[in-house]
Order: sequence, then structure tokens, then C-alpha cells
Amino acid sequence: MQSSAGIVLCISCIFGVCAPLQCKSAQSIGQSKRVVIAASEILDGKGGVLHDTRIVIDGSQIVAIDPKPGPVDYDLRGLTVLPGWIDAHVHITWSFGPDGKNAGEGGTTSGAAYAAASNAWVTLMAGFTTVQDVGSPTAIPLRDAIAQGRLPGPRILTAGGSLSGRGEQTGTPEEIRAFIRKQKAGGADLIKIYASGGMTRGSMTMSQEQLTAACDEGKRQGLRSLVHAFRDAVRVATLAGCTEVEHGLGASDGDLKLMAERGTYIDPQAGLLLETYLQYKNRYLAPPYYTEEGFAAMRGLIQAHQEFIRRAARIPRLKIVYGTDAVAGSHGRNAEDFIHRVGDSGVNPMDAMISANSLGAEALGMEDQIGSIAPGLQADIIALMGDPLKDITAVRRVVFVMKGGIVYKYAAVQP
Ligand SMILES: [Zn+2]
Repeated sequence: MQSSAGIVLCISCIFGVCAPLQCKSAQSIGQSKRVVIAASEILDGKGGVLHDTRIVIDGSQIVAIDPKPGPVDYDLRGLTVLPGWIDAHVHITWSFGPDGKNAGEGGTTSGAAYAAASNAWVTLMAGFTTVQDVGSPTAIPLRDAIAQGRLPGPRILTAGGSLSGRGEQTGTPEEIRAFIRKQKAGGADLIKIYASGGMTRGSMTMSQEQLTAACDEGKRQGLRSLVHAFRDAVRVATLAGCTEVEHGLGASDGDLKLMAERGTYIDPQAGLLLETYLQYKNRYLAPPYYTEEGFAAMRGLIQAHQEFIRRAARIPRLKIVYGTDAVAGSHGRNAEDFIHRVGDSGVNPMDAMISANSLGAEALGMEDQIGSIAPGLQADIIALMGDPLKDITAVRRVVFVMKGGIVYKYAAVQP
């Protein structure tokens, strides 16, 4: 999106009217010129609120928070400014194919590649400056293109492939360790493991010994391990020393307390995923995985997940991160889960923001780079029209997006 003149093309789209704007960026102006953002309210990502100050950016980094510097390049007063959000669980390559049906992750056509790039773009425009993709080999070239500035999109961390539990057939501990090393060699940033059946039924698909081998080898290779787990598998993944449990429905309070004690992150979903399936039922319906019976149960399951989050939020020190499980049809709407968390599960709005800021960054092992607005961190900064602490639907109104000091969205705000 950067022209030869070094000006980033920003698209201003608000109230349905779109127009290109020329935005200054740290890169376009050169390393010596700083960019100054004026803000009247800043959520710092860690639970703090700053008023009437300025954020100074040099290159890709925040270098100061100080009310004095000028001149102001971006006047974001009247908006709520916060760190770019982090979605801990997306399927960035999932899209609908030419027949309109869910094509899943496997597409290798040019259409599928464009769709994945489009998913990345709309996710960034929605205020998500970092996402964790939990398994698709085609996400690796997308990650690299974005990281090298060849495509606009959120910073992507990806698992590449995944380890699917199939009982004894999953392999011996040594075979599992070899698989993890292969993932590392293939460029994975993390390991994704499927250790149980689906939301409503199905038992564990890996033993304690197998899971321990996978997560321990991950640690040795410097890879975090994310485990798809429901019911009994939640405790087993926690005891195996895995980094994060995905979904988690069916875990008891005792399991959740054990996670809090061990510092294991949990990543539950509050509604966007199942609502996406229901909204696009005809595109997803394909037995044996997406069945009429499954769709009929989804309304009840949305409630079950929301009750689960309500319960989890009451467990002291439990680290609940923000991951939407975004699939085809959800990309760009990742913020909807905030509205469910706060509106339907009673989560405190500040906690909801922190889950996708500093806590989300900590879960990625990147808290010294992203997730907060502070000197020394990456300039990943967004602004919302409205205050999410007072009206959580403000998360839908992202009017400014900066990632690594480059502005990708600066929508003219109408009073
Ligand atoms: Zn998923």
C-alpha cells in the first residue's frame, strides 16, 4: 500500500462513504521526523487510562507519552485510543470458494490466495494488528508477505500444520516429538494440537503421555503449544504443561483453578464463531462434520459458551485471552466477540480490552513488543469512535489503525 513517494494510501470509509486519503506514516516521512498523535483518552492496554496527552512515534516504535510535543500529525481527541487488538485464534486462510461453499483452509488456487489476503486486510481494518493463525500451511507465505511489507495485514503468527490426536495412531512420544521438530523446521511460530472431540461430545484423542511429549518438545524448540480441548482434555493439557487451552467448554471449576495455578491460558469463544456458522448455514452444511443436527444444537451451545465464560471470569487469576476462532464469514468482524463477552457473559469491559491487549501479548510471549501503549513498544495503535468502557459496541467503530508506525486507516470523523 505504499507508493513510490512513500505515502501510505489510507481508505476513509465511514457511514458508507469511502474516499482515499493520503496519510503520513513514520516511514514516508523518514526516520528522523517523528509522528505525534494527540489523544484525549488512551486505554494503555494494561488497565490504565491516560487523559489529554500525546503519543510520539519514531519509525515503528512509540518513543514517548508526553503532553508537550508538537506539531500534531493525527488529532484523535474525542476518540478512544488503545493498542491494536490481538486475536489469539483465527483461521486466516479460510474462505468461501467459487461455489459459495466453505472451502476451508486447503485452497491453493489464486482465488484462495486472494481470499486469504483479503481476510488479512479486513482483519487489520477491524483494529486487529496481530493474529495467531492456528494451522494452515498457506498462512506461512501470507505471514511472510505481510512481515516484509509486501501486503497489508495484521502481524501473523502461525502454526503451519497441526497435530491431530487419533488415539494410539497419533504416534509414540518419540514420533510426536519428531513431528514437533518438523513443524519448527517448517517455519511454525507455535504448535496446534487437537486433543479431544468436538464441543458436545467425543472423548480425549491423546493420552497424557502423548500430550506431555508434544508440549514438552514444543518448549524445547521454543514453540508455544495451543491445545484444542473440551471436558477431561482441559485438565490433561494443563498437567502436560501446554501453553494455552482453546475452547475449554466442559472444564470444571477445579480444572479452571488448576489452570490459574499453573498459569495456563484459556481461550474461550463467546458467540461470533457459532453465529457465523448459523448465518452461513447453507455454505457450511456438509456432513459428516457440519450436519443438520449440529446446526440445530448451535443456539443452545452459544448460551453454554457464554455461561462458561461467565464462570471462568470468576476464577481468580485465570488468564482468559481473546480468540475468536474466526473462519470464513467472520474475518473483519473479530470484535463481535467483545460485545458477547461483555453483553452476554458479564465480563468487565476493561478486562475484555486487556484480554486482547497486554494479556494477549503475554500469551504470545510478546509483551515487550505489543499489547500496550508505552515507550519502547511497537506503534500498534487504534482509535474507536465512542468509549468501549461505557458502550462496548464502540468496538465496531474503528476509525484509525496504525501498525508498526504505519497508518492503514484514518477515517474522517463526522461530529
Ligand atoms: Zn479454530
